[in-house]
Amino acid sequence: MNVFSALIGFLLFIILVDFFVGLRRTNDLVRYLATNLSVYIVAAVLLLLFGPFFLLSPVKINHQVKQDGQITLVYPNDLAYDYERFAYLTKKAQDNVYDLYQQIVPIKFLLVSSNVNMVRYGSPPVAAARGLAGINVRFSKMDEGVLTHELSHHYLSQTTGRNPFYFPRWFDEGLATYLGDMDSMVKFTQASVLKNSLDKGLYQEDLVYWNCFTGHLRWLVLDLRARPLEAYTQSYFLVKFLADDYGKDNLRNLIWESKTSPSFEQAFQTVYQMSLDEFHQKFLQVARDFKDTPEGLFEEFKNPPKGGN
Ligand SMILES: [Zn+2]
Repeated sequence: MNVFSALIGFLLFIILVDFFVGLRRTNDLVRYLATNLSVYIVAAVLLLLFGPFFLLSPVKINHQVKQDGQITLVYPNDLAYDYERFAYLTKKAQDNVYDLYQQIVPIKFLLVSSNVNMVRYGSPPVAAARGLAGINVRFSKMDEGVLTHELSHHYLSQTTGRNPFYFPRWFDEGLATYLGDMDSMVKFTQASVLKNSLDKGLYQEDLVYWNCFTGHLRWLVLDLRARPLEAYTQSYFLVKFLADDYGKDNLRNLIWESKTSPSFEQAFQTVYQMSLDEFHQKFLQVARDFKDTPEGLFEEFKNPPKGGN
């Protein structure tokens, strides 16, 4: 569940309450039911056919649906010419997240042609984002990095059975960026940005700031507006440090432990035998020594093979 789903759930709740309040007050029950139910049915059909519930709809006008293993791809007819690239990149993203999660979970990707349609399908107008029933992908901004990033969010909640508020924002976003550290996401992996944010006071000193629902809101409302580059970069380096210095196996153990531990802090303590605060202090001791990775190398290997299936 993301914040958008919570909002939709809240709206549905208000509508339901309003319906029952009206039901108790009405003098003409048949007329009340007929009017209200027909409005609800029309609204539900519109939301299924053209809105945020589109991926759940059995009827998908002007779209094609293809399944490959656990990946379901939905794309508009006018973008069918690029299906091969869509299929190739989503498969690559699945391989990238599998390395850490060691499990394959079902996912639906919806290819979206414009920013307006991204909003219509229930996600913000960014490169890719989780909608109500899958991942919406903005066609012109699709690459392996963003697909892997969004898929990691999906895998983290699906493999642990936790809602996203269980994990501090820095961990969920950092892990997603760590696994998808390529293409357009490379901008969030630069040590010079981290150093600069430490120097200019843009670094978030207190990791608890990103905990729970309020941490989620702070990320969305404050960080993504005022300092998205710094927030993503800090999160990326925290997780990268965890993976590089304490091993990927421990990172896998942390995800495993999250399934049963009552809190992320406790899961972290169990796996690493130190508190999050101790870990953060160790990180800060070396954060300024990180080096930028050279960009642009091996670009030719990132492109899908031409003419193949
Ligand atoms: Zn993200």
